[in-house]
Amino acid sequence: MTTTAEFIALDERWSTHNYHPLPVVIAEGEGAWVTDIEGRRYLDFLSAYSALNFGHRHPALVEAAIRQLDRVTLTSRAFHHDQLGLFCAELTRLTGTEMVLPMNSGAEAVESALKVARKWAYEVKGIPDGTAEIIVAGSNFHGRTTTIISFSTDETARTHFGPFTPGFVVVKYGDAVALRDAITDRTAAVLLEPVQGEAGVIVPPDGYLAEARRLCDEHGVLLIADEIQSGLARTGTLLALDHEHVRADLYTLGKALGGGIVPLSAVVGRRDVLGVLKPGEHGSTFGGNPLACAVGRAVIELLATGEFQQRSTRLGAHLHTRLAELIGHGLAEVRGRGLWAGVDITPGGLSGREASEALAGKGVLCKETHGNTLRIAPPLVISEEDLDRGIDAIAEVVKR
Ligand SMILES: *Cc1c(COP(=O)(O)O)cnc(C)c1O
Repeated sequence: MTTTAEFIALDERWSTHNYHPLPVVIAEGEGAWVTDIEGRRYLDFLSAYSALNFGHRHPALVEAAIRQLDRVTLTSRAFHHDQLGLFCAELTRLTGTEMVLPMNSGAEAVESALKVARKWAYEVKGIPDGTAEIIVAGSNFHGRTTTIISFSTDETARTHFGPFTPGFVVVKYGDAVALRDAITDRTAAVLLEPVQGEAGVIVPPDGYLAEARRLCDEHGVLLIADEIQSGLARTGTLLALDHEHVRADLYTLGKALGGGIVPLSAVVGRRDVLGVLKPGEHGSTFGGNPLACAVGRAVIELLATGEFQQRSTRLGAHLHTRLAELIGHGLAEVRGRGLWAGVDITPGGLSGREASEALAGKGVLCKETHGNTLRIAPPLVISEEDLDRGIDAIAEVVKR
């Protein structure tokens, strides 16, 4: 087995076809760069959907993982271990929250937040059992489980996966009046992405998130911020909500929390809300395992320095200045915050897929979100020189 074509054929023969990857077979990664099996190097402008905010194999994270591999990797939650409490304490300190529910994937964190919100609604708020509603936004992306796709507005994600979980109300993202009108006596929570990643890096109008907070306070409703993609320094602040000086009652974290090494997610937030869970009511065999907690602690240590938030702010300003210059020269629109952008290629130009393929040919790995929209999310460790190299390639590919 030696060629790109052979490895792709193997994937296509034996793995399900639920993705449509670019024809690149990666063998190694370091920092912002990956190398394919034939020795070609590429700049990573996707960062595994922001799971690689610290780049490939950040030395401090690899060291933490190896140290823990040499001690103990899994205990299950049937017993205590010496990493869980430290991880949770450090994560609450970092995020200014009170309690942590550790899970593995992002979808599990969202599922867990939904379960907790419902339980809180019945046991604390006093909504009649089985009637709680959770308000979500159109064009949301919160994961792929049956309950989560029940409130997706993407037909591709839903078709032939029903019957769906009831209890969700969808309103237009960014529309505070629609949100206000949807709140009823049965509303347990509002679940929002502070920036909608998969929808194309959509930043809501100024004041929307603050108004969502105000409405939730007025009606005794929980605000749940899904920061799985937007959080952990990606937008230049620890959490994307920080830009609006808004606090959520619960946050879902994932992706970069595992340092690009292990799956690690969490729900963090208020003690009086997460505290509704009692033994036996929720869990996960791998959730909060020693290896994941040890890597997570090293991630928290990196984030606590503020260095990555600063890099995202500084490099992001440069990225957005340069992308803005491409409007009218191949790009129709540029959105985003920090080192994160969604760009719409001018209609009639390349599709997002064609642009991604052309970029791969120039040694830059990027991926369309859908249609003619590209997502740009380099690792926050990227140098300004490499960032410019990638932007130059984008400029060449989209210009007509
Ligand atoms: C990726 C993502 C998820 C799901 O995370 P998985 O680890 O893929 O299950 C949930 N919410 C948001 C905002 C995401 O970007």
